[in-house]
Amino acid sequence: MSSAPTGLRIAVVGAGSAGLLLALILQRQGHRVSLFERSPQLRTEGCGILLVKSGVEAVAAAAIPGLLDDLLAGGHPVQRFVFRNLRGDLIEASPAEREAGELPSLLIHRRAILDALWGHLDPACFHGGRSLVSWNQGKERVEAQFADGPPWSGDLLIGADGIFSKVASLLCPDRRLQYLGDRVWRGVVTDETFCAGGDFFVYARGRGIYANFFDLGPDGEGKGRTHWGFFQEEELPDDRATRQRLLEEGVPAAALAKLPADAAAIISATAPAGVVANWSFDIDPLPALVEGRVALIGDAAHAMSSSQARGMTAGLEDAVALAFRLAPGASATPVLALQGYQEERLPVVHRYQERSRQVSRRTGRKRPPTRGSAGAHPPEQHRKML
Ligand SMILES: Cc1cc2nc3c(=O)[nH]c(=O)nc-3n(C[C@H](O)[C@H](O)[C@H](O)COP(=O)(O)OP(=O)(O)OC[C@H]3O[C@@H](n4cnc5c(N)ncnc54)[C@H](O)[C@@H]3O)c2cc1C
Repeated sequence: MSSAPTGLRIAVVGAGSAGLLLALILQRQGHRVSLFERSPQLRTEGCGILLVKSGVEAVAAAAIPGLLDDLLAGGHPVQRFVFRNLRGDLIEASPAEREAGELPSLLIHRRAILDALWGHLDPACFHGGRSLVSWNQGKERVEAQFADGPPWSGDLLIGADGIFSKVASLLCPDRRLQYLGDRVWRGVVTDETFCAGGDFFVYARGRGIYANFFDLGPDGEGKGRTHWGFFQEEELPDDRATRQRLLEEGVPAAALAKLPADAAAIISATAPAGVVANWSFDIDPLPALVEGRVALIGDAAHAMSSSQARGMTAGLEDAVALAFRLAPGASATPVLALQGYQEERLPVVHRYQERSRQVSRRTGRKRPPTRGSAGAHPPEQHRKML
């Protein structure tokens, strides 16, 4: 149920998890929301996600009736973390701790998260096939231009357009992607035995690789699924064509052979259509998340390594924090609402980014000899979704 119309016109650019949650809450607050997405439809492809407790709490804090239940129904709680070396020997196994009444950390497919959010959104606000190419703002309004279709003009523009954000490249021209040193493959495969019961397996980094596996629960037909991630240290090729070609290849057999046979078999059993690949990047902490009537949330604001499984959670937290500032009566003006959001979130996301890099270094994630940078706004390199 939406509140009375406020008349505030807000564009959200990018319908990933952060943009969808924000659009949804803003709609309920009575704002005139336009959600622009480059793809014609919602991009629900992707793989498994460990949505840590604070991400689930952010969805709960959005207080959209039924949304938390839908999210919880789409995933299942992580029960145990198991660390092994590359011979398969156990290093440590620890239960996922959870106080009575606490929300769980969830093992969940990205699609289930987006479906849950989409299910509560009024789809009239969604404009697919609209790729933002630029924006500009004056004292009274902000305008956005798109590769196709008419421009948009309104009160606020929020960039939720992911790691390769166009909105962010104009807000922070010095924003650079930093290469983290890995080519990464991820996949989902039917598996009833290797990884079940809410288990999360980590194969500690060594010999130039790292891998994880987790139980993704049953598919639509009730068959168990396992998500896997495989990281191989290598230098970032200079040219775009080579990068793209390498992302089209499966995990090299020689690299896969470094894993114990049962773990390698899970990866080998995955149909190529179920595999996504990317080069791993993060960004340096940005000096600002806001300029006037424009703000950034999610990976656009703070793309970080997956070492802490914190990326999606941070974006959901951003969405809730920003929406709370924009709730009717919460801030004196929309511009002050964005400033309040920045004051609240900048130190938090900087801490996440710093911690995520620290953990990456501690767990031995190799950086290339010269720390690669892919430039301020590199070409898209993902074969599919992150
Ligand atoms: C290997 C790996 C493992 C990960 N594991 C985890 C994990 O376990 N837990 C976790 O919390 N996080 C994890 N993450 C991070 C997580 O996937 C991201 O942080 C999260 O999906 C980002 O969401 P987002 O909404 O900010 O951006 P996205 O989901 O990237 O959405 C951005 C949207 O914007 C659209 N878009 C882009 N440009 C434009 C444009 N110009 N105009 C209009 N639309 C545009 C895109 O099409 C897309 O739909 C992982 C990331 C990687 C790479």
